[in-house]
Amino acid sequence: MTHSLYPQLLAPLDLGFTSLKNRVIMGSMHTGLEDRFYNYGKLAAFYRERARGGVGLIVTGGISPNRQGWLLPFGGTLNFLGDVPNHRRVTRAVHEEGGKIVLQILHAGRYGYQPFVVSASNLKSPISKFKPKALDAAGIESTIAAYARCARLAKLAGYDGVEVMGSEGYLLNQFLCARTNKRTDEWGGPIENRMRLAVEVVRRIRAVAGPDFILMYRHSVLDLVEGGNTWDEVVAVAKALEEAGVTILNTGYGWHEARVPTIVTSVPRAAFAEVAGRLRREVSIPVVASNRINMPGDAEALLGRGEADLVSMARPFLADPDWVAKAAGGRADEINTCIACNQACLDHTFSNRRASCLVNPRACHETELVFSKSARPRHVAVVGAGPAGLSAATVAAERGHRVTLFDALDRVGGQFNVAMRVPGKEEFAETIRYFGRRIELLGVDLQLNRRVSREELLAAGYDDVIVATGITTRKPKIEGIDHPKVLSYLDVLREGRPVGRRVAIIGAGGVGFDMGEFLVHDPSVPLPVPKAHWMGEWGVDPEAGTPGGLAPPVKPHPPREVWLLQRKSTRPGAGLGKTSGWVHRATLVRNGVQMLAGVQYERIDDAGLHITVGGERRLLEVDNVVVCAGQESLAELMPAQPVQGGPRFHKIGGAALASELDAKRAIREGAELGARL
Ligand code: FAD
Ligand code: NAP
Ligand code: SF4
Repeated sequence: MTHSLYPQLLAPLDLGFTSLKNRVIMGSMHTGLEDRFYNYGKLAAFYRERARGGVGLIVTGGISPNRQGWLLPFGGTLNFLGDVPNHRRVTRAVHEEGGKIVLQILHAGRYGYQPFVVSASNLKSPISKFKPKALDAAGIESTIAAYARCARLAKLAGYDGVEVMGSEGYLLNQFLCARTNKRTDEWGGPIENRMRLAVEVVRRIRAVAGPDFILMYRHSVLDLVEGGNTWDEVVAVAKALEEAGVTILNTGYGWHEARVPTIVTSVPRAAFAEVAGRLRREVSIPVVASNRINMPGDAEALLGRGEADLVSMARPFLADPDWVAKAAGGRADEINTCIACNQACLDHTFSNRRASCLVNPRACHETELVFSKSARPRHVAVVGAGPAGLSAATVAAERGHRVTLFDALDRVGGQFNVAMRVPGKEEFAETIRYFGRRIELLGVDLQLNRRVSREELLAAGYDDVIVATGITTRKPKIEGIDHPKVLSYLDVLREGRPVGRRVAIIGAGGVGFDMGEFLVHDPSVPLPVPKAHWMGEWGVDPEAGTPGGLAPPVKPHPPREVWLLQRKSTRPGAGLGKTSGWVHRATLVRNGVQMLAGVQYERIDDAGLHITVGGERRLLEVDNVVVCAGQESLAELMPAQPVQGGPRFHKIGGAALASELDAKRAIREGAELGARL
């Protein structure tokens, strides 16, 4: 059957021995659940929901074929019979829902954060403190055997196939590139030798698993590091992999140590799809596009342009397990879109915590955060339609409570309306759209332009009142803080007040960095930033004419001179997201923003901002000072003590605690409260 809305995306794919029901792959994500045998029930529940949501093929998180390949000590394995029953729980759950699932085999090589690490050569990676041992010939043979054993056990455990992880700078990629492969034997030197391990691994897996087994290979198409492969080498490897027995060729972009972002929110949507398209013209097996694809319209469009046969999305399935079902039902406006923030997924994984999702706190907590129908529906008032209030209101309504949602402003979204104005954060608008639609569908009584008082709430006879009124901006006590040249971040981002050519930002937290990006953005560049401009800015050659696809970055033209200041003596930006902070820092550095730490603010006057830094007095002769000095809770609606015979009061999000508040906590607190009412 041809689907009228997304005819290519929802078309089945015949692989000969089996078929996929559509062209959507849920890409591999390490959730943290796969590392402990006692969490496999939770892992099965996680995948079950995604399979039920209609995705064509699921790829598990990376499972190491042996101990040397662990990413973290005691990571998930499938290398002896005793591991099989755990994995069977996962495959059974997916098959019961009519889905298909392949196991990703990931040998981390020198990226392993553990003492047994091995690689092609003994070169330490910049992102792990452990120096690898170069594999000798016997070590290489036992590694190949470990891959084959893992695939055999995967088949036994009921997987429909395996994906061999050959990109992002992991072991096979380390053998493939001269950057990390300095060997002089038959496993190093020219590309024919460097690719030998990847090709042998594929051949041996095919030999043990037989022809009726999906063998997907994630191939590094743009390494984005010095000493990476050229396009000709990438194509030669792809052809050899096809010949060795690969069924589907997935694509990967950028090693983990690359200094080019490939998945954060400021990367344009489907930025790398045309590179997948070039590879597709070189091979005859299906090719998968991946990275920053998050909505069905974009996915359909890239398939329509012939850039791929399938699309892989990983984080979008944390955000919404029903992504495919909603697309197929013509309900794309109901998709809870991944905003590519990394805050609850990759930032968690890289700090050894269970993954989840900022916009969907149920992700990886399916058995713990349950929204069951309430036996006794209550009348609930939610005050504040920011992320916390939206989350609480929609979960409560989903459970059958009668919900009235108030906001003093003329729209829902709270501070997300401000965040989405920051260049590169346009995706935040999707979260507002999602919640807006949920409110309509669930029949929440939305009352905008309504600043409610406690008296009104007490008089209305609610059973519960949820105070989600957020924050007020902090006004630091600095002499001259009321000078006309001082603006708050809301004056600039929400009210659109003009800002001069020379600017000092007080406060280098997330908002201070965002303000920096807003102020240095060249107004002649449209937003969201077009792909070609973004590639130039970050020095990416999408044709990979150079090794690794790196080109000299194009010089930016910031319209302002900016200083970003903080009192702490730590490195500015140290508190930003683990996997995204470096991108913000690099953007500001490239645009000439001067970051000063250990600053003492003396006063603000007509001349500018007077500071002391490093014991020296300085005057920053600025036209404006923009204050981004954090927030304080706004919870004046909360009664000092419980009201006898009145509603139960609760507070969540910024209203509960402003320090270290982010939308992840706000949405999670809203959902948890909604689930408890
Ligand atoms: P808010 O979003 O502040 O919402 C509170 C709502 O209550 C407002 O809509 C307000 O109008 C309403 N209200 C207040 N009083 C009343 C009343 N008496 N009656 C009716 N309505 C009332 N967080 C992240 O996690 N990641 C990011 O990348 C990120 N980027 C950001 C960028 C910027 C520029 C800004 C400003 C914030 C950013 N944040 C980010 C922070 C995030 O937006 C907040 O943590 C989140 O919005 C807090 O949610 P909340 O619902 O508690 O409060
Ligand atoms: P924040 O992270 O708390 O940063 C506030 C900044 O103001 C700090 O740099 C602080 O540094 C400074 N400051 C605090 N009190 C001050 C005072 N009295 N005088 C002068 N300076 C003062 O707050 P935020 O930047 O407003 O961010 C709010 C929340 O949104 C945070 O949780 C943040 O994580 C989240 N957010 C996240 C992102 C993201 O990209 N992930 C982006 C934006 C916002 P000193 O005390 O050292 O001066
Ligand atoms: Fe996407 Fe952010 Fe959720 Fe990760 S935490 S899946 S990046 S929305």
